Amino acid sequence: MALQPSNLRNALASIIDHDSGKDIVTAGMVKDVQADGDNISLEIELSSPESPLQERLREQIESAIRATSLECKEVVGSIQISFTADTRSANERIREETNPLPGVKKIIAVGAGKGGVGKSTVSTILAVGLSRQGAKVGLLDGDIYGPSMTTMLGLQREETIAQDNFLLPFEVHGIKAMTIGKLVEPDKALIWRGPRAHSAFSQLALQTKWGELDYLIIDLPPGTGDVPLSLAQLLPLSGSVIVCTPQVVAQDDARRAVRMFQELGIPILGLVENMSYFVADDGKEYDIFGRGGGEQMAAAMNVDFLGGIPIHPDMRVSADTGEPLKNWKINDTMSKAFDNMCSNFISSAESTTLDPPTLSIS
Ligand code: ADP
Repeated sequence: MALQPSNLRNALASIIDHDSGKDIVTAGMVKDVQADGDNISLEIELSSPESPLQERLREQIESAIRATSLECKEVVGSIQISFTADTRSANERIREETNPLPGVKKIIAVGAGKGGVGKSTVSTILAVGLSRQGAKVGLLDGDIYGPSMTTMLGLQREETIAQDNFLLPFEVHGIKAMTIGKLVEPDKALIWRGPRAHSAFSQLALQTKWGELDYLIIDLPPGTGDVPLSLAQLLPLSGSVIVCTPQVVAQDDARRAVRMFQELGIPILGLVENMSYFVADDGKEYDIFGRGGGEQMAAAMNVDFLGGIPIHPDMRVSADTGEPLKNWKINDTMSKAFDNMCSNFISSAESTTLDPPTLSIS
C-alpha cells in the first residue's frame, strides 16, 4: 500500500525552512503533492530561484519520506521533487495574497477634507480620462451618504442586473461603474450608521463583477471623520488622491485629508486643485479663488501635485446631465488640463509602491 497523505504530510512537516524558521508545510512551501502508485512527486516553492538550500532540502525531504515509509511499513518508489520560486517582492506578495479583488491591479481612493469641493467630479473625470488614455477603469461611488454617480453618469434608466450573487457594473462612457444610488433610495442610505454602512460599502466593492481592471477609483465620503477613515481601511488601497479648492481657508481641510491617508499608511498619489481657474471663451484665464493654493500646499506637505481643474458652468451641466465625456468638448485648455491630471496620476500610480503602514489605526 502507498504512504497515507497524513503520513506524507507529517514527514514534510518535520523539515524546518531555514529562512522562516517554520516547517515547510506551515511556511506554505509545499505547493503540490501527487502520488502515482508508490511514486511520489512534489512541488516545493523557494523564495529565490537560486536558493542554495535546494539540494539540502531535496535530501531532507527524501530521507524524511523514506524514514516515514519504513516506520509505516509502506513502500515508496521514486520521489520526484521540482522546485519553483516566488519572485514577487514581499510587498506584492502581501497585496496579492490579501487582495479580495485579484483582477484589479490598483484600487485608488479619492478623498477630500470636506464636501462640495468636487471630489465626485474629479473622480469621474479621472475615471473617464484614464479610460480615454487606454486604461481599463472601474468607478465605485463609495460616497454612501450622498451618492451622486447616478446623476453624474446618467444611470437613471440603466437596469441593475445581478448574476450569480454578483452585481454587473454599469458599462458607460468607457468605464465600469457601480453606485449605491441604484440599489437603495438615497434617503434610506443617509440613515445608515457604523456596521451597516461598512457592509454596504464592502458589498458594493466586493460583490460587483469588475473583471480585469487597471484601476478601480473609489469616490470616498467627504471629510476625515470615522466613516471615510474606516471605509478607507476596508479595501487594500494602493493609493489615494486628494481633492481641494485653491482658497487658503480650504487648505486646513485638505491637510487633514493628507494626514488621514498618511496615518493609514496609504500612499498619496497626489493632490488635485479643483475650481482652480476659469477659462473664458476667448481663452483668457481668470483666477477666481486664488489659483495655486493647492500646489503650494502640496509642495509644503511633500505631496505630488497632479494638476488644476478649471471651474466652468459647462462642467456643472455635464455632471447634471450625466455626460462626463462632454467635459472634453468645452475648450482645449480644459481638455488639456484633464488629460494632464490623468497622465500625472498614471506616472504617480505606476511609480508608487505600498510601504508597510507605519501606524495602524483600529
Ligand atoms: P463633492 O463630491 O466634493 O461633494 P461634487 O463633485 O459633487 O463635489 O461637486 C459639487 C457641485 O459642484 C456639483 O454640482 C458639480 O457639478 C459642481 N462642480 C464641481 N467641480 C466643478 C468645476 N470644476 N466647475 C464647475 N462645476 C463644478
